[in-house]
Amino acid sequence: KQEKGNSVKVFDMNRQTEVMRSKPHLVHELKKAIVNKEFVVYFQPIVNAATGGIHYEALLRWFSSKLGPVPPDAFIMAAEESDFIQEIDLWVIEKVCEHVANSHEELRYVSINLSIKTFQSTELEKKLLAACSKHGIDPSFIELELTEHTLLEDEQLLIEKLGCLRKLGFKVAIDDFGMRHASFNYLRVLPVDKIKIDKAFVQNLKRNSKEHHIITSILTLAKKIGVRVTAEGVETVEQAKMLVDASCDELQGYLFGKPAPNEIVHKASKQAREQ
Ligand code: C2E
Ligand code: CA
Ligand code: CA
Ligand code: CA
Repeated sequence: KQEKGNSVKVFDMNRQTEVMRSKPHLVHELKKAIVNKEFVVYFQPIVNAATGGIHYEALLRWFSSKLGPVPPDAFIMAAEESDFIQEIDLWVIEKVCEHVANSHEELRYVSINLSIKTFQSTELEKKLLAACSKHGIDPSFIELELTEHTLLEDEQLLIEKLGCLRKLGFKVAIDDFGMRHASFNYLRVLPVDKIKIDKAFVQNLKRNSKEHHIITSILTLAKKIGVRVTAEGVETVEQAKMLVDASCDELQGYLFGKPAPNEIVHKASKQAREQ
C-alpha cells in the first residue's frame, strides 16, 4: 500500500515538473487559479528595529488542484512574461484589503509585491483607490514593493507612476535591492520611501565579511538620502544583531516568523499579546 502511495507521489511530481517546464501549460493552469480559488495570501512579519512594532508582507501561494503547491519563484516569472501578472497582482491587492478590513489590529499596515508590469498598468491607481475605499483603508497603510524580474522598459513612465502613487498616500519600496537591475540607478532616479536588501546579502552576513561591508555601506547611503531600509532573510540572532548595530530600520526573516495564513498570524499575535 505504501509503495502505491509513493508511486502516486512520483507521478504527481513528474506531472508537476512536466507542466512547469512548459510555460504555456503553466500559464494555462495559472489562468484558472483565480476562478478555482487556488490562490491564498500568506503574511510574513516585518519588525521595526526601533519600536518592535510589526507589519506584514503579503506573499502569494498557489495550491493548484492539478499540480499541488507551486512556489512563487516557479510561476511569478511565467506570469510576468505572459502579462497575466497584472491580473494576479490586482487580485492580491483586493484580497489583502479584504484581510486588513476584517482582521485584527496587527494586520493594519501591509506590504504588497507588485511586478514592474503591474506598476505600468494604467488601471493600478484606480484599482488601489477602489479597494482602499471599499474596505475603508487609508492608502498610507499600504506599501507597494517594486519587484522586478523583467527589464524596465519605460523609466520615465515608472518615475511618474511612483510619484503619483506616493501623492495618493501609498508607500513605495524597491524590492531585492542589490540584485540584478535593482541597484543604485534605481535609487538615484526612482522616488521611493524604502529599499529592501535582498536576502542573498543577509544570509552570508558575518562580521567583517564582504556582505557586512556592503550592507553597512548601503545603510549609510540610505540614511544620507532619507530612504528607510529593510533587511530580508534574517535567520539568526547574530545576523539580527549586526543589522541593528548598523542601524537597519526593519528586519524580516524566519527568525521572526515564516509566511503564514492570516488565521495563524492572528492566533500567534493574540497569544503574544496575552503573554
Ligand atoms: P520577495 O518579495 O523577495 O519575498 C521574500 C521571499 O523570501 C519569500 O519567498 C519569503 O517566503 C522568503 N523568505 C522570507 N524570510 C526568509 C528567510 O529567513 N530565509 C529564507 N531562505 N527565505 C525567506 P516566496 O514567498 O517564495 O516568494 C518569492 C518571490 O515571489 C517574492 O520574493 C516575490 O518577488 C514574488 N512574489 C510573491 N508574491 C507575489 C505577488 O503577490 N505578486 C508578485 N508580483 N510577486 C510575488
Ligand atoms: Ca517582496
Ligand atoms: Ca528578495
Ligand atoms: Ca523578489
